[in-house]
Amino acid sequence: MTLIFSGNDFKYELESVVKLFIPATLFDIHYDIKPEYLVGDYCFIRRKKGKENTYLYTVCRIDGKSDARVQSILNSADNYEGDCEITLARLLFKCLTALTGKSAKWGILTGIRPVKRVNKMIDMGMSRQDIESELSETFLCDKSKIDIAYKTALTQKRALEDISSKSFSLYVSIPFCPSRCSYCSFVSQSVESSIKLIPEYVDRLCDEIAYTANMFSDKGLRLDTVYFGGGTPTSLDASQLEKIMKAISDSFDLSSLREYTVEAGRADTITREKLEIIKSCGADRVSINPQTMNDSVLKAIDRRHTVKQFVDSYMLTKEIGFNSINTDLIAGLPTDTVESFMKTVDEILRLDPENVTVHTLSIKRAADLNRRSETVIDNPAEKMVEYASKRLMESGYDPYYLYRQKNMLENLENIGWSKPYKESLYNIYIMEENQSIIALGAGASTKLVARDGHLKRIFNYKFPLEYIKHFDTMLEKKNEAWEFCKQNIL
Ligand code: SF4
Repeated sequence: MTLIFSGNDFKYELESVVKLFIPATLFDIHYDIKPEYLVGDYCFIRRKKGKENTYLYTVCRIDGKSDARVQSILNSADNYEGDCEITLARLLFKCLTALTGKSAKWGILTGIRPVKRVNKMIDMGMSRQDIESELSETFLCDKSKIDIAYKTALTQKRALEDISSKSFSLYVSIPFCPSRCSYCSFVSQSVESSIKLIPEYVDRLCDEIAYTANMFSDKGLRLDTVYFGGGTPTSLDASQLEKIMKAISDSFDLSSLREYTVEAGRADTITREKLEIIKSCGADRVSINPQTMNDSVLKAIDRRHTVKQFVDSYMLTKEIGFNSINTDLIAGLPTDTVESFMKTVDEILRLDPENVTVHTLSIKRAADLNRRSETVIDNPAEKMVEYASKRLMESGYDPYYLYRQKNMLENLENIGWSKPYKESLYNIYIMEENQSIIALGAGASTKLVARDGHLKRIFNYKFPLEYIKHFDTMLEKKNEAWEFCKQNIL
């Protein structure tokens, strides 16, 4: 497939629209050539400025069939560049829908945070009806997606009622896993291959925690939430976990904390001793992720635990007593069927967790799954997600955060569901970018939200070995974060 841009360079946005219809393709990109000379499939995207109007054209050819669209806008439009881009995206979307017979329910909203746009519209005072018209007519969204995005925005508004601009969250990265699941492309290292690094990683991480606390404590900032993620934080042994959690409670003032999550993740890493330490060190929310309640699917994704191990860990977590337990599921896993996924959802609902996060499989380049060319064709993910949404809503859960990733099956989304008033604040902060999050450890990134809303991201080293080797630079990055904070947040 060749993409030709003429009189514009909206490559990033428009390439994303083409990918909705023709996924997993490398495009040939050209500028200002005429499509008549091309053999094969192409999309020709042209902007031509006249005296008063600008003419926007898309011409697409796929398998010998062609479709063309045109629209004009005023040169004097307030948001001229933005209008040109959105109009071209819409024309392209319509051409490709006509030629492929496919549709994409999020329309031309290809970004990862569709709810952020809805939140902005609500904040501008737009009515629900106006928001629905805008999403449907300008962005070509399907009603089902508009409804879920709007419901999610409303839940967030309630959950974030008393958010303070002087509060922040901490993210602590433990980038190790007991083994690698086949669908995963996170920068996590399996414990088998990196066990030697763990003691030094834990020591450096404790140093980074103390250094950061020294800088940010007692400066009028309130620590709101703490989140241990990874990887699988419970890949560490009980004493390593305790050392890091104690470093947090010894260094930071936790008296205003509203939520403290530890992702236990995989059932094969969970023990009573670790859960008791997690609780006694102050965490009140734990995530245990079965992904599926079908042993043969767990085997197919190389996730080395069983359904029974998950249920046992879940019951143990309940017995020890946490304010909230989250369980992650994935729709569209290899060998899974709609019936088996429905059974997964029903079994999870019987366990009655406070939060359920329903992900859609995203085929990542780095994941082993993709390398084995098992890209799932005609995947029933959409039916699975629909069933999960219906059952969760019937069971009293509200959607509270939603995001999309590249290459998600059927262009779907991930949705966090929660019982009322049990929403994870951290998940909303990270997704809606409305609170600064200071990241500690390898593979994580700090995101600072300035008073005027602009964002600054500071990336930590990706891998544990780099993190350990260049630890001085890691501390310099914390200095940089503090300088930004002084000038733009305090
Ligand atoms: S446990 Fe999670 S982070 Fe670790 S390999 Fe599996 S999916 Fe990836």
